[in-house]
Amino acid sequence: MSSSSQRVTQRRLKGLLLKRFGMAAATYALTGVVCSVAMFNGLLQASWPTALLFTLLVTLSQLGFFAVFRAGKNLRFRDPSLTEPQMLVALGWLTLLLSSFDEGRGSLLVIYPLIMLFGVFELQPRVFVRCALLAFFGFAGLNLYEAFTLRLDDPAAATLQVCVLAAVLIWLSLFASYVQTLRRRMRQRRFALQAHQDTLRGMMRQLEDLAATDELTGLFNRRHFLRLASRALDNLRAGRQHGLALIDLDHFKRINDVHGHAAGDRVLQAFAAVARACLRDGDVLARYGGEEFVLLLPDTDCEQFAACCERLREAFSRAEPLGVKVSDLSLSVGMTLLTMHDDLDEALHRADQALYQAKRSGRNRCMAAWEEADA
Ligand code: GH3
Ligand code: MG
Ligand code: MG
Repeated sequence: MSSSSQRVTQRRLKGLLLKRFGMAAATYALTGVVCSVAMFNGLLQASWPTALLFTLLVTLSQLGFFAVFRAGKNLRFRDPSLTEPQMLVALGWLTLLLSSFDEGRGSLLVIYPLIMLFGVFELQPRVFVRCALLAFFGFAGLNLYEAFTLRLDDPAAATLQVCVLAAVLIWLSLFASYVQTLRRRMRQRRFALQAHQDTLRGMMRQLEDLAATDELTGLFNRRHFLRLASRALDNLRAGRQHGLALIDLDHFKRINDVHGHAAGDRVLQAFAAVARACLRDGDVLARYGGEEFVLLLPDTDCEQFAACCERLREAFSRAEPLGVKVSDLSLSVGMTLLTMHDDLDEALHRADQALYQAKRSGRNRCMAAWEEADA
């Protein structure tokens, strides 16, 4: 992944985590409102200063989390959402808060599952169960402590509350485990789909290569060459020229007749190898058909282009096809230049005429359409 897309992903993650943090803060605020109502109705057994101190400590704990998120320090942890620590702190505060309630305790019990819901989609089942156990033992411990210190007013109601909490937490743990299994399966499917897509892309590329390549020589085929040449012609700017040449191996039929068709094939392959060695990366060479090839040399002029074709002719005359003893290897070339607004068919015709002249003049030579025009 590039560093810029990594930055975008990190920014998105930070935004998402801050949003989740906002939800947690809103839950704290709503619980605060509920507690205020309880206090006004005399259900909360705490003095105003104690309540204020408690609110202050809760706010400070949240500010601490906020600072960690803002500074991006949470990204250092394995779970950057810090879901488990946030839940543990919230469960601790809730248990402490419930210790100040008697009659209203049963109603406020509903806040436990509310906190646990934050972990349903985030936490691994093992971690979720750990949080659920802490919630349960916190609440059960509070009731036991009150029973021992003889402060438990209604033991029957307390037992019921502990049982209800246990049931809800067990159900939530099973649900969290089910959600995680679903997520894992979805992730696996996404990976499998991605792998299929990669394979398909690779196959597409192979098919494209196959459709563009001549099997015997490995050069581009005529169809692909025409596509590339017309694209190059479209992009040609005023004052610039591309070289276009038709190359035909001389007396190739004779090679086939004397040495056999397989030897002829090897001569064609030898030409492709020689040409590849002579040309540069941007040059386009293709098998036009049979023992005829076509070359497009981008951004060139008469001298450079003629020199390049001449080099190719000489190199081929020295070629040594694998396992074939052929003397007098030669080729003829018909050259023309492509200018802006030129027509590709017309240019190919010009090159073909020049090639015809090269053959007529005795073969083994390069002839240029522009020379014919000058003559
Ligand atoms: P010229 O100098 O006038 O070009 O004569 P030439 O013999 O090269 O040309 P001609 O068109 O008479 O013969 C071309 C031969 O190329 C005929 C054909 O059998 C042979 N040929 C075409 N494709 C292939 C191929 O893929 N492999 C082989 N071995 N021969 C091929
Ligand atoms: Mg020929
Ligand atoms: Mg020919």
